[in-house]
Amino acid sequence: RLEARAVSAWFGTHKVLERVSLDMPAGRVSALIGPSGCGKSTFLRTLNRMHELIPSAAMSGEVLFEGEDVYGAGRRLTDARRRIGMVFQKPNPFPAMSIYDNVLAGLRLTGTKASRREKDELVEECLTRAGLWKEVRDRLRQPGGALSGGQQQRLCIGRALAVRPRVLLMDEPCSALDPTSTRRIEETIQELSGQVTIVIVTHNMQQAARVSQQCAFFLAEQGTPGGIVEHGATEQIFGSPADSRTADYVAGRF
Ligand code: ATP
Ligand code: MG
Repeated sequence: RLEARAVSAWFGTHKVLERVSLDMPAGRVSALIGPSGCGKSTFLRTLNRMHELIPSAAMSGEVLFEGEDVYGAGRRLTDARRRIGMVFQKPNPFPAMSIYDNVLAGLRLTGTKASRREKDELVEECLTRAGLWKEVRDRLRQPGGALSGGQQQRLCIGRALAVRPRVLLMDEPCSALDPTSTRRIEETIQELSGQVTIVIVTHNMQQAARVSQQCAFFLAEQGTPGGIVEHGATEQIFGSPADSRTADYVAGRF
């Protein structure tokens, strides 16, 4: 499981997150919802240490993965990112690289060596888990850029899975996709849950309700940094929210 404890974040002197604590249970899907600019993406990036790549960015607080401090002394950045993978809003496969090599691209970064046969098996396994195998098995040598947007996003999920992450962070993974592709990605998320801990940011309330078991509502009120107003079981957040701001947001009154 992944735990954020009192995570605050800044860009320069601008504080954008104020002491956010959240438990993201192992093998479950946690959805992060909330209006634009409230710090959801920033929070996601603090979880796998991508936040620190932004020059003006700073953070405080703790992120624990299975009880271990992701930011602990001596812990390597690549280690955190290998165990905690990420899929972005805009599908970003290497466009000129083959579908096959795209899946394996992360292995090179982690220095994993594999035989031809192991690679073939890994590509098939990851693309199957990403729900793309049947569509591309006969065209693995074609460039990643030749796929449709929805297929490219599933390729990115396959690429993320190839380094065997324990956690997959997904920042609005379907917002650039058509309804059919969105459906496919949701099915993929449902199939991965149980095996991988998933944290998904989405503006689509139906999607949050469909794929997640727990949900956190983020809000940054006028002139204040973002924080979690309320979190809990998805059914509770959508069915009987405790806070009127959550109720307004999930009902689309924001
Ligand atoms: P959206 O739903 O629109 O994606 P979000 O909830 O993901 O929004 P963030 O992208 O985390 O919000 O942004 C939170 C705050 O941090 C905003 O005020 C934003 O302007 C600021 N911010 C985000 N990225 C940067 C950056 N690279 N440099 C400076 N400020 C940033
Ligand atoms: Mg965002």
